[in-house]
Amino acid sequence: MRSVQCSVETGFPSLNLPSPVQTISFENHTFYLKRDDLIHPDFSGNKARKLYYFLQNDFPHIDTVVSYGSVQSNAMYSLSVLAKMKGWRFEYYVDHIASYLKDNPHGNYKAAFENGMVIRERGAGSREQFGDNVLFIEEGGWQKEAEYGIRLLAEEILDWQKENNIKELNVFLPSGTGTTALYLQKSFSIINHQSSINVFTTPCVGDSDYLKKQFTMLESDETYHPTILSLPKKHHFGKLYRENYEIWLKLRQQTGVEFDLLYDPLGWRTLLAHRELLCKPLLYIHQGGLLGNESMLRRYQRKFPLITSEALIV
Ligand SMILES: *Cc1c(COP(=O)(O)O)cnc(C)c1O
Repeated sequence: MRSVQCSVETGFPSLNLPSPVQTISFENHTFYLKRDDLIHPDFSGNKARKLYYFLQNDFPHIDTVVSYGSVQSNAMYSLSVLAKMKGWRFEYYVDHIASYLKDNPHGNYKAAFENGMVIRERGAGSREQFGDNVLFIEEGGWQKEAEYGIRLLAEEILDWQKENNIKELNVFLPSGTGTTALYLQKSFSIINHQSSINVFTTPCVGDSDYLKKQFTMLESDETYHPTILSLPKKHHFGKLYRENYEIWLKLRQQTGVEFDLLYDPLGWRTLLAHRELLCKPLLYIHQGGLLGNESMLRRYQRKFPLITSEALIV
């Protein structure tokens, strides 16, 4: 059973904030790496940032949190931790659970169950159908309340930049719903109008048009939008790509850091294809998600049994 540490004074788990920044070298370039994966063993990455508002504030009338999405999602797992910490019931709606997963629970699915998740195999409908006791969270934590925790991430980065006397900075992170990238760029601009930090991202779930729409639905002012970069070839979320597996192994080999297998490989490939970004110091945000690697890695090893770190030419 995973345990959640609680600090005595507040009853909240002690989070490792500000998260550390480390210097790494990859493919002969130096990068700064913001280790949001190290925020907490059970509650980390951008899901911790996006749900921070709910962790920090009191919701006396809430006893249940409801959400929906994919059956192995990082957001699902993080919500199960939040619910456990808050003493809430957690109901999660999925379209379908593969019988293989039902018979062999693993990864985020298994861990969320251990935290007491109640899963339902049908659509969640809309938030209106639930009572006042229910906190309804959109798929992937795509919602306005996320801004609160991402503002803190921006503050941490600005403080670090100042302490280290870094004049100019580019920030890169891969996007799903785009919530983290959007609120990060917006926060930099709001906290410090003179901030010259540019946030760059790439769509991992849909295409650039989808991501742009996601940004616009959360924030109509385009001056707050991050810059979207992409690779010429279409990418399908959750599909296995040799290039993704190879860069993930290379990252582990050259930096000693384990990245996530769903978003980070495309993130790093896109970043390396846009080396003009490296004319300024670049900070890459490690957004966690490592529990989900268990299921992805099994699939990769089955599909590409001959690719290993040793077999890669560095
Ligand atoms: C959820 C997630 C993302 C995508 O975050 P968005 O805010 O939806 O864009 C990226 N990386 C990891 C590791 C994630 O878990």
